[in-house]
Amino acid sequence: MIRLETALQKILDFLPPLVVESIALSDATGRWLAEDISSSVNLPPFDNSAMDGYAVHATDVTAATAATPVRLKVVARIPAGAGCDGAVGAGECARLFTGSLLPAGADAVVMQEDTRTDPTRPDEVLICDAVKPGESVRRRGEDVRSGAAIAHAGAELTPGRLALLAATGICQVAVGRRPVVGLLATGSELREAGQPLSPGQIYESNRVMLAALVAHAGGVPKVYPLVPDTLEETATALTTAFAECDLVVTSGGVSVGEMDFVKLAFEQLGGQLEFWKVAIRPGKPFVFGRLREKILFGLPGNPVSAFVTFLLLVRPALLRWQGAGEIELRQQPGVLAEAMANRGGRRHFCRVQIDENGRVCSAGQQASHALNSLAKANGLLDLPVAAELSAGTPVLVLRW
Ligand code: AMP
Ligand code: MG
Repeated sequence: MIRLETALQKILDFLPPLVVESIALSDATGRWLAEDISSSVNLPPFDNSAMDGYAVHATDVTAATAATPVRLKVVARIPAGAGCDGAVGAGECARLFTGSLLPAGADAVVMQEDTRTDPTRPDEVLICDAVKPGESVRRRGEDVRSGAAIAHAGAELTPGRLALLAATGICQVAVGRRPVVGLLATGSELREAGQPLSPGQIYESNRVMLAALVAHAGGVPKVYPLVPDTLEETATALTTAFAECDLVVTSGGVSVGEMDFVKLAFEQLGGQLEFWKVAIRPGKPFVFGRLREKILFGLPGNPVSAFVTFLLLVRPALLRWQGAGEIELRQQPGVLAEAMANRGGRRHFCRVQIDENGRVCSAGQQASHALNSLAKANGLLDLPVAAELSAGTPVLVLRW
C-alpha cells in the first residue's frame, strides 16, 4: 500500500510526452495552451473614444458649463470603424461614437450627455462641461503593449483568455491533444438500464459517472460494453480498449477475490503493474499499470471508490496529459458545522456539502456503495488518520 502523493507522482512520471495539435481558436474553449504567446499588436490598437460624444482640445472647453456653453465647429464625423485623415484644430471638434478613432489634434472626448445641438446650426455643437486631457479616451496599448506576454503554456483557454487572444488577431493555437479514454465496467452482476434484473443483479452506474468526469477533465470518453467476470472476456475487452484508446479506465475486479481478473488479464496482455493499493478510504484497491506508452487506471468497483480515485489520481493525470499547468482540485475554505472524525487506519475522503457561507456538513452515509450522499455532495473533506474535528473547526474542502 502506498501513500496518495507517491501514487500520483508515479502516475505523472509515467505520462508520455505531450502531443500538440494546432486548432482553431473557436474550438479551443477548455483546452490548455502548449505554447507561450506574446501579443503582436497594441490593445487598443489606436487611441479611441470610450463614449458617444465629441473629440475636442481640452483647453478649448475649460470654461464650459451648462449656463455658459462653449461653441465648437464640428469638422468631422467619425463612425466606429472609419479612419480619419484630417485633424481637429483649435475651436473645432469631431463627432465620435464609442470605439471611434480619436482624430489627430484632439486630446479628450466630451460625452454626448454634456453637449447640446442646435438644429438650425448643424455644423456646430455647444459643450456644456469641461474635460481633462485624456478624458474618455482609451489610449493605444494601455491594455496590452505590443510584444508583451499574454498567455503561457499550460494556461487554460477560458472564455476571457480566448477573448484576449482573439483581440490580438490570433485564430489558431497550439494545444495538448485530448486523450481518448476507454471506459470498461467489470462485474457479472451488472446490467444495462432498460433490461430486467434477475436476483443478485444491479444496474451499472460507473460508466456514465466516469464518462462525465472524463469529459469534465477534457478527455474524450469511449464507453465499452459490460465485461463479465471471466479472465478471457476481461482480456478481450482490455485488448480492444487499448487498441482504440490512449488511456483505459476500468472499474471493478481489482480486489483480492478470485473473481477479480483485471490485473491478471492486463499482465497477460504484456502490461506491467506499477502499483496496487493506495492508503486512502474509499478507493484502496486502485491499480496503475503501463502497456507500452499506454496507461491502465484500474478503479475499484464501488461507485464512490471509483469517483474518489478518479478525482484524486486519474483527473490530474488527464489534465497533465493535455498540458495543463494546474492539475490540483480547488480547495475552498470552510468551517465544520458538525463534528467529524476518522477512526479508521487510512486517510478518509468524506463526501461533504459546503454551502455559500462556507458551512461544511457530511453529505450523508459514508459507505463506499452509498450513492445518495455522492449525489448530494459538492466536495470532499480530507480527514487524516485519527482526526477528531469538532464543530467550528476551519477546514479546506476539495471541489470539482
Ligand atoms: P468490485 O470492485 O468488482 O469488487 O465491486 C465492488 C462493488 O461495487 C460490488 O458491490 C459491485 O457490485 C459494485 N460495482 C462494481 N462495478 C460497478 C458498476 N460499474 N456500477 C455499479 N456498481 C458496481
Ligand atoms: Mg466485481
